[in-house]
Amino acid sequence: MILVFGRSGQVGHELAKLDGVLALNRAEADLSDPEACAKQILNHRPTAVINAAAYTAVDNAETEEDLATLINAHAPASMANTCRDLSIPFVHISTDYVFAGSGQAPNTPDAPTNPVNAYGRSKQVGEDRITRSGAVYAILRTSWVVSAHGSNFVKSMLRVSQVRSELSVVDDQIGGPTPAARIAKACIKIAQDLVHDPSKQGIYHLSGQPDVSWFEFAKTIFDDTGREIELTAIQTSEYPTPAKRPANSRLDCGSTKLTFDIDRPIWKNDLKEILQDLGEIQ
Ligand code: NDP
Repeated sequence: MILVFGRSGQVGHELAKLDGVLALNRAEADLSDPEACAKQILNHRPTAVINAAAYTAVDNAETEEDLATLINAHAPASMANTCRDLSIPFVHISTDYVFAGSGQAPNTPDAPTNPVNAYGRSKQVGEDRITRSGAVYAILRTSWVVSAHGSNFVKSMLRVSQVRSELSVVDDQIGGPTPAARIAKACIKIAQDLVHDPSKQGIYHLSGQPDVSWFEFAKTIFDDTGREIELTAIQTSEYPTPAKRPANSRLDCGSTKLTFDIDRPIWKNDLKEILQDLGEIQ
């Protein structure tokens, strides 16, 4: 059995649907109590652990960095230490926001990290603690997660279009929209591979292809649904937010394909399924 933290989240919800998974929610394991997470692993004695829980409120993290760090770094460190003690693999999901986002080239897993916001810093500390834990680990960085469940850009666009006839969307942040279901399946494959071959441990990337701007992503959502809305492409500087965002969120996913035979999903196909699940299209 694979033990999952974060059952109510986008990725956790997809993981909970898969065979051989026991997924815990916040009531069963609160990540603001790292020891409680360790105890759950010790109680359940799984064959591997996947952490899909995180403090993901990027703007709020600017004023709650200690809490974000507790949840995104100290709790995963406690999970990793427990996995090390039990000699089982630990798979943890991280983010494109560990990168500063300069340049145009896809960020490789070994590229230098330099987060531009508190959320990214909290996730980077988590990565550092896991890589130094001595556990067999995989850190899977992803970006722009979407699904029919939970909060995400697709659902925000659909909601906004019910009350607005025009919308400005940022056109100078580029990344890969990534279906939560694909991340869930990748985490399981990676966990199973690590059980048999710990030498595959390391940091990996998975994002949907092709890379696009938020504006292009929004345009596809509205084209697919046939919703009438006037879209205007704007620069990040015209849409100030409490937390800065990296401009280049492109992730080089080559080593994930080479090591685990996991392809970058073609997000436009998955988007159609998500829109069907939401009852937006037939
Ligand atoms: P969601 O925001 O959908 O879900 C977060 C999950 O974490 C929820 O289950 C939430 O529980 C849980 N959680 C938050 N705080 C606590 C806590 N104190 N104790 C227990 N559980 C807690 O996340 P996603 O599925 O979108 O993200 C999955 C992973 O992917 C995360 O590691 C995230 O950092 C990463 N990621 C996400 C991106 C995105 O666009 N969403 C982009 C890049 C990376 P509850 O429902 O009770 O709050």
